[in-house]
Amino acid sequence: MAASIIQLLPDHVANQIAAGEVVQRPASVVKELLENAVDAKASDVKLIVKEAGKTLVQVIDNGLGMNTTDARLCFERHATSKIRQAEDLFDLSTKGFRGEALASIAAIAHVEMKTKQNQEELGVHIVIEGSKLVTQEVAVLPQGTSFAVKNLFFNIPARRNFLKSETVEFRHVMDEFQRVAMAHPSISFTLIHNGSEMYNLPSSNYRQRIVNIFGGKTNEKLVPVAEDTEMIQISGFVGKPEFAKKSRGEQFFFVNDRFIKSAYLHHAIMNAYEGLLKEGNQPSYFLYLKVPPHTIDINIHPTKTEIKFDDEQSLYAILRSAIKHSLGQFNVAPVLDFER
Ligand code: ADP
Ligand code: MG
Repeated sequence: MAASIIQLLPDHVANQIAAGEVVQRPASVVKELLENAVDAKASDVKLIVKEAGKTLVQVIDNGLGMNTTDARLCFERHATSKIRQAEDLFDLSTKGFRGEALASIAAIAHVEMKTKQNQEELGVHIVIEGSKLVTQEVAVLPQGTSFAVKNLFFNIPARRNFLKSETVEFRHVMDEFQRVAMAHPSISFTLIHNGSEMYNLPSSNYRQRIVNIFGGKTNEKLVPVAEDTEMIQISGFVGKPEFAKKSRGEQFFFVNDRFIKSAYLHHAIMNAYEGLLKEGNQPSYFLYLKVPPHTIDINIHPTKTEIKFDDEQSLYAILRSAIKHSLGQFNVAPVLDFER
């Protein structure tokens, strides 16, 4: 019999492979860290970025923090406080659930974490580089957690070289920041890039958050959408048709507070605008859908931006009719005069 040749990969190698799925660019780190801060019930979140995140992505939150044991465990693969059993996957209320992000990030960067729980006097300060623990110390810290991720892909030159210009990478960082901030208007968010403050968003509501991100002129363009059925609750805004543009800019779906992409639901919207847009024009929309968690599957895509709905066709019809109704109410189509 020939010698057996199969070996289990060491953890740090497995983590580096998994990182390829989760972490494509600095913006992926931004997304994962911001979502963790939201899951930790923070009311204030700061994002600090240098060179579009290539040299630093730091997220500071005032959330629940971690105890010393969890502070170490969070860097292990499949280590999560968010699910316990497979069934939980179909009833998710948190952004995270795979317990993969931090292990992946720590495998391909220099990570410095500081965390303290409210009831504790002292916190813990941990440095990990390429999955290896460098230091772990007790420290005097404010409540909450700070993750600083430096020198992304330091040990994978091919990935590092593959990164785009600072402008392009920062655009991706902004996209992720805006998506999380739009989904959670009650949380205050700050974004600082290369030392200058790009956003300082106070706690507010959906409409105000959208205006704070996209500028004061956005307010007059928004038409509210509202629908409430057993299957789905819809709120948010669609843009008045006269403000539609050639480029697909501000088009956002959130499902249960998570930004998602859906060509199918986009089609429902375009359908609702039928006859109201000039050829080739794209309306803006900011739509917040709430569905019972067990009617969707989020676990079909590594970055969770695509999800599967149980009954997509009904959602399509409800969404289309809600938007038609809103656009009609705001008198954007010529009205028939029944009096004469
Ligand atoms: P997931 O979010 O899928 O659980 P992560 O790797 O992102 O996986 O995080 C692992 C665990 O670390 C989380 O389940 C959570 O318990 C803890 N954690 C991560 N970030 C924070 C944070 N900012 N505040 C408190 N706990 C955190
Ligand atoms: Mg997470």
